[in-house]
Amino acid sequence: MESILLLAHTEAGGSLAKPALEALTAALALGGDLTVGLVGGAVESAAAAAAAAGARRILAATGEPFTQPRYATDAAAAEALARAAGAAIVLAPATSRWTRALPGVAYRLAGRVDTHATGLAMRDSVPALTRWFYRQRIEAVVTRATRPWLILLDPGCFAPWSGTPAAAAQIETIPLEVPASRTTVTGMQAPKADEQTIRPDAKLLFVAGAGWTKKQPDGAVHSAEAQQLILGVLRAAQASLGGSKSLVDLSGEGEAVLPFMTHLNQVGQTGSTPRHPKGLSTCCHGEEPHVVGWRFVTERRAVNLDPNCGWTRGKADVVYVADAFAVVRELNRLLS
Ligand SMILES: Cc1cc2nc3c(=O)[nH]c(=O)nc-3n(C[C@H](O)[C@H](O)[C@H](O)COP(=O)(O)OP(=O)(O)OC[C@H]3O[C@@H](n4cnc5c(N)ncnc54)[C@H](O)[C@@H]3O)c2cc1C
Repeated sequence: MESILLLAHTEAGGSLAKPALEALTAALALGGDLTVGLVGGAVESAAAAAAAAGARRILAATGEPFTQPRYATDAAAAEALARAAGAAIVLAPATSRWTRALPGVAYRLAGRVDTHATGLAMRDSVPALTRWFYRQRIEAVVTRATRPWLILLDPGCFAPWSGTPAAAAQIETIPLEVPASRTTVTGMQAPKADEQTIRPDAKLLFVAGAGWTKKQPDGAVHSAEAQQLILGVLRAAQASLGGSKSLVDLSGEGEAVLPFMTHLNQVGQTGSTPRHPKGLSTCCHGEEPHVVGWRFVTERRAVNLDPNCGWTRGKADVVYVADAFAVVRELNRLLS
C-alpha cells in the first residue's frame, strides 16, 4: 500500500473536530504508512489521538497565522506538510477551509485532486474512492494513476475515530515562512445558535413544503401559525430545516411567508442532499425532483392531507394522511 498523509486543522484547544476524526478512520481503513499533518495554534491533543491511532509520523505547521481560515496560509501549510511527508495519497476532511485550499495545493504539487469522496477503499490493490455525480443519481468509483492524489472526504460518511489518545506523541514541526497575505481575519460573525436553521449534525431533518402557505380546509391561510409551529419543532427537536423548491421560491420573492426559509434550505435536485438519520416531511408533495435530495436520509416519514401524494408511492417508510398543522401542534406539545 502507498504512503498516506492525512491533513487536519486543530480546534482552539488543540483537538480534532468530528470531520477530521472521520477522515482518520478512512485513512486507517486504507492501510499503509500513515503520516498525520496538523495545522493550527495548539496540536498536542490531536497529535496524541493520531499517535494512538497508529500514525508513524506526526508533522505540524503551527503558529498564530495558521489558526485563521485563509487561503494563503492554509495552502502554504498544506503544501509544506505534503512536501515533508512525500506521501502518494493526501487525505483531508472536506471542511470549508480544505475545500478552498487543496485544489490550489494539488496544482502546486503537480498532483490531482478529487472532491466529495463518500467512500474510500482498496480495490484490486489500488486505492479507489466513490463519489456521486449528476445530482446524486450515479455513483462512480474513481481511481487515478497520478501522484500525489489529494482527496477531500465528505463529512458524515465514516464513523469518527474514537480510541483513547496516547499519553504523549512525538511531533515534527515543519519550519514554514508565513506567506504574504492581503487577508486579515478580524473576527467571526455568525447567527445565534437559536437562529441557525441548517444543522448538518442534527438527527432529524424537518422539511416544510408549500402546503404550509396554502389555503387550509377552513378557506384561510395560516402562515403566522405555520411559522410558529415550524420554529417550535426546530427548537424543541434541534432539527435541521429543509424546504421544498416551491416554498423557498415563495420566500425568495419576499412574500410574507416563513422569513427564515432561504434557498440554502432547499432540498432536492436543484438544492441540497443532506445526511440525517431521520427525516419528516410536512405539507410537501414528495415529487421526484424534491425526493432525490433525500437519498442519504435513512428513515423517512411524511405528513400530507393527500393520500395520493408522492410520498405514498414508495418514497417514504411511513406516511401520515393527516393535517400537518394538527400533527405538529401535538408534536410540539409532546416535546415541551
Ligand atoms: C428541473 C427541476 C428541478 C427541481 N428541483 C427541485 C428541488 O431541488 N427541490 C424541490 O423541492 N423541488 C424541485 N422542483 C420542483 C418540484 O417538482 C415540485 O414542484 C416541488 O417540490 C413542490 O413543492 P411542494 O411539494 O412543497 O408544493 P406543492 O406541490 O404545492 O405541494 C403542497 C402539498 O402540501 C399538502 N398540504 C397542504 N396543506 C396541508 C396540511 N394542512 N397538512 C398536510 N399536507 C398539506 C398538499 O396536499 C400538497 O401535497 C424541481 C422541478 C424541476 C422541473
